[in-house]
Amino acid sequence: MDGTTKPTEGLGAMTDLALAQGTGPRAWPKPLRAAFDADMTERHFHDVQFFVAMGMVLAIVTLFVDAISMPDHIVEASLNRLIFVLPLQIAALAIPRRYPHLQKVLMGVSLIAFSMVLMRGAVWPEPPIDAFLMMGTVLMLGIVVPVLPLAPIEKAIFVVCYVIGTAAAMFAYDHRIAAEAPFVAIIVLTGVSAAVLGQRLWRLQIRNFLLALQASHQMADMETANARLAELSRRDPLTDLANRRHFEDVFASHFNARPAHGEARVAAMMLDLDHFKAFNDRWGHQTGDECLRAVADVMRNCADGHGGLAARFGGEEFVMLLRVDGETQALQIAEDLRTAIERIEMVHSNTDTSVTCTTSIGVAIHEDDEAPHLGRLLAEADMALYRAKNDGRNRTQMALPGAKMGKVAVGAAA
Ligand code: GH3
Ligand code: MG
Ligand code: MG
Repeated sequence: MDGTTKPTEGLGAMTDLALAQGTGPRAWPKPLRAAFDADMTERHFHDVQFFVAMGMVLAIVTLFVDAISMPDHIVEASLNRLIFVLPLQIAALAIPRRYPHLQKVLMGVSLIAFSMVLMRGAVWPEPPIDAFLMMGTVLMLGIVVPVLPLAPIEKAIFVVCYVIGTAAAMFAYDHRIAAEAPFVAIIVLTGVSAAVLGQRLWRLQIRNFLLALQASHQMADMETANARLAELSRRDPLTDLANRRHFEDVFASHFNARPAHGEARVAAMMLDLDHFKAFNDRWGHQTGDECLRAVADVMRNCADGHGGLAARFGGEEFVMLLRVDGETQALQIAEDLRTAIERIEMVHSNTDTSVTCTTSIGVAIHEDDEAPHLGRLLAEADMALYRAKNDGRNRTQMALPGAKMGKVAVGAAA
């Protein structure tokens, strides 16, 4: 990657590579890993809130189970949850976004505390509901751990703490079942399989992240390519002027409204370079191209200066649209354009000779009592141009407003 490569482009390539090689975050370059960490932190933050809220609901729902199985101890059962579980859950929900690890710790501790509180309550019924408790504890471990919003190492720590906490509570509260060997084996086995399943889900999360990132980069690339194509479809590649299609679009969107009384009128100028075939034959096609580009630059400046639009219609023919106060101004602008083109000087590379070119221009203005009509304007300008050519070239001809096709008035300014 060179220094000019945009960071997002680099990230796109890194994503493609990570997907192709099937690597994990540890093997990724720093920017990709940072993007993954940021994404996971954000995702986990919301998931932890969801899990904690679910835990709160569970703590309340299991109170009903307690009310049925040990009605005499419902007050203690409620108090245990209220004192040891609920504050942890509320704190986890209230933790601001900038402390994601603390939020996870509170979630983990509240889960373990909940399990220990259940253990405490399970000795109150007569006889103690050991088997029921064990099933619940193991189920919670097996189901919750794989989907807990924790990274693998965090999950491993949680599993160890959960198993230790649960086992300790079982012994502390003297559950008969805790002393039996199968219990330890079952809870350890469940912990390990939950961790393995969690690891598998983690790999899927990584892949999901990479695919989403790849899709967003491909979308951005496509949008850039589309914008570039749209731009190319509007421009003439040699001169970078608008092409005919874009010229017609701009006319339709900006120049076709009927002007209010006293407002500027729309003028069209058609330009055709004089004896350009002979120019090419004499100086070569390359110098011809150079000349077309220089003429385009002059036209662009002129159009920019008058809030108009210059376009290349094809070959050595150009056209310009602009607003003018009247014929005098239109003729003046066309004449300035013609003389500016006449003054262009190129150096012929083979002979070191100074090369110039000239152009003929036909000008038409729309009649101010009607909406401008592009076809009519261009036809009138074209006829004026035809007369300019016939009258000796390198001159400007004006088509009188309202002139019907074939009835062009000549207002030679040259
Ligand atoms: P007139 O004064 O009557 O307009 O004569 P002309 O020679 O300019 O007109 P003609 O239509 O016979 O020739 C136009 C020439 O423009 C022919 C062609 O070689 C040249 N031309 C058209 N497109 C290009 C281009 O993209 N680059 C170059 N260098 N020449 C071009
Ligand atoms: Mg021509
Ligand atoms: Mg020509």
